[in-house]
Formats: sequence, C-alpha cells, structure tokens
Amino acid sequence: MEITNVDVTKVSTESWGEFVEFPLVTVMSKFDEYNNADGDNPQARRKWMGPVGDVVVEVKTDAGITGIGVGNWATGSIETIVEETLSKLIVREDPRERERLWDTMYRATIPFGRKGAAVEAISAVDLALWDIAGKEVGKPVYELLGGPVKEEIACYASNLHPVDHEKLEREALDYAEKGFDAMKLRFRYGPEAGRVGMKENEKIVRTVRNAVGDDIAVAGDAYMGWNVRYAKKMVKRLERYDMEWIEEPVIPDDIDGYAEVREASNVPISGGEHEFTRWGHKELIERGAVDILQPDVHRCGGLTELLRIDAMASAHDVPVVPHSGTNPHLHFIAASTNSPMAEYFPIPEWYAERESEKKSTYADAIYANPPQAEDGVIPLPDGVGLSSEVNREALEHHEVE
Ligand SMILES: [Mg+2]
Repeated sequence: MEITNVDVTKVSTESWGEFVEFPLVTVMSKFDEYNNADGDNPQARRKWMGPVGDVVVEVKTDAGITGIGVGNWATGSIETIVEETLSKLIVREDPRERERLWDTMYRATIPFGRKGAAVEAISAVDLALWDIAGKEVGKPVYELLGGPVKEEIACYASNLHPVDHEKLEREALDYAEKGFDAMKLRFRYGPEAGRVGMKENEKIVRTVRNAVGDDIAVAGDAYMGWNVRYAKKMVKRLERYDMEWIEEPVIPDDIDGYAEVREASNVPISGGEHEFTRWGHKELIERGAVDILQPDVHRCGGLTELLRIDAMASAHDVPVVPHSGTNPHLHFIAASTNSPMAEYFPIPEWYAERESEKKSTYADAIYANPPQAEDGVIPLPDGVGLSSEVNREALEHHEVE
C-alpha cells in the first residue's frame, strides 16, 4: 500500500462553542485585555486563540483507504507544515511503516519543531496512519494495541465553569445524579485578583464539594493561570477539600515550579496537555512535576508517541489521563492498563435549557460519532480504525479558508 496524497482542512475555533466565552482563569489572564474572570469580556479567549482550532488531515492511499487524523489547537500553520514538509516525506511511502515515518517527520522538523505546531502536525498524520492500519484489517485500533483491558471507559465530567454559584451547585449535583463519580471544575482567578480572588477560588471548590459530598472525585483546572507562589498558597488552602488533582497550576515550561507546587501540599498535581513528545513528558515525570500525566494525542506526537509516553509513565507509577476525550483517546484508554479514565465534556442542564439559538459543541463537533457517556461511563468506541470519521456538514460549516 502507498500513500498517494494528503488533504488538509482547517476548522474554526467557532466549533468549540460558547464555553470559551465563560469566565475562568487562563494563561493570558494577567493581561486585562484577555481576562474574562468577571464574565464582562466574553471574547477574551477568542482574541488570542486565533481563527483555527483543529486541523483535519486526510491521508489517502492507492488501496482506496483514507486515514483521518486531527491536530488540535494548532493554528493554520499545521496546513503549511503538512503540505510543505510532511506530505513530501510520506507520499509514495507505505502508511503501515509508522515507526520509520514518525522518526522521519520528527527529525525533518527539528529545525522549526520539537514542540508546538510541528508536533501537532505530526500528531495528525500519525493518527491518520493508525486509522489506515485499523481500516485495512477491519478492526478498531484498540484491538491492534493488544485488545481492550476494560469493558467500558470510566470518565469524568469536565465543565463546571464558575458562571455563578447557584448554577455551579446545580450542575455538580446534576452530574452526580447522572452517575459521574468524578468531575472537574474551572478556577476563576489568578494572582492578578489578589486575596479576594483566592477566596473566590476556594468558594468554587467549596460549592462543588458541598453539592456532591465526599464520595465524588473533584478536580480543578488552573489552565496555566497561576504562578508558583500563588499556586503554593492556593493548594495549601484547598487541602481540606480532598481534591483529586489540580491541573496546570503554572506554565508548562516551569517544570521546577510544578515540582515545587507539588512539594507544597498533599494535593495531587496534573499537567501535560501542553507538553510534546516523549522527551517533553520525560522531563515532567523524572523531575517530579506531576502525579497524573495528561498528554493529548492530537498534540503530543500522535498515538505512536502517546504509547511511548504511557510506557514511560507506567514505569514511574504515574497514571495517564489524556486531555480531552476524543475518539482516538478512547482507543488508547481502552487498551492501556495505565490509563484509568477519559475526560468527557457534558452540556450542563442550565445551559441546554437557556433560551438561545447558540449551540455549544466543543471540538467533538467535527466527529461523526462523538463519545456519549451513560451512567458515568463511555462504551468502547464503535467502528474500524480510530472511529475518526468526521461530520462532513459540520466540517464544511466550520471550515476556515
Ligand atoms: Mg486542562
């Protein structure tokens, strides 16, 4: 089998829906222009995220099989990297030779790659190659990975934006009633909001913990919006709420800072969604930065690289809970003994019930069959390959020229 050509479609961040307009602390919150902590600057994130959110890469073969892979949060530069560099390396090659092709793509992009958009481009191509491998033998990719090690996939409800405390309480309770035994909230404030913001952050955790009781795992995401001093104070303050983890307390490059925050309290620290390749994740693991590793298969180098990262994490007894719960992630989690659960983005009832024409969709808008949780679990993904068939209508609607 030979690769004949590669097509690229850029997908607008509009497909991520309205949730990006809700208040939360982000890596950009220190700048007023990009801070929406109080909910009065809803376009704050769109101002810096840029128009392109995901990039769909379709690898076509002379066997009539097309593999689909998605690169996440990459800007349109993925298109340039795929068209000008990666496609030249893989066209006329055998798509089943993933190890060699991965190394070829990685080495060829070192001068401008190693992290960020180039590795996201490699991720999309690598996922497409895995999709081809599954489609060729008519099996789901989790079967190619050694078969499922679980009957269904546990997941955590990831939403709980700090819109207001009443909604937050209702939302948390609703997830508990729907069978989720784990959930993740978003913090609202960072160092720029001082002690008052700290108190508010604590109140968000208290609201959710009080709503769901002690038997539900509650995690919190700081989305890189804190610094080491602030994070150390915040985690000490949150110790009594028995949190499952606190995610991305500092920026990804501050690995020593991660370790320092982790040392400061008994609250588990997680991160890795903005880290790349086995070498990046090796640093997080070996320097004691995280209790839980959260690579994203659409960013970290694809499934080929995620398997290496998972093997390394398991050797250090660090579980892998991948960022975002897209279909390719579900194949990985299904077949890994080191990956206990998926992230899952439910739609809050208060949001679904509001009177508006707007529909939130998240990135799953581009998949034809996005994951659907029932009683807090997701069934093993359907279909052959990576279950990565796209919703053509949505893709057309959200395409950026
Ligand atoms: Mg996160």
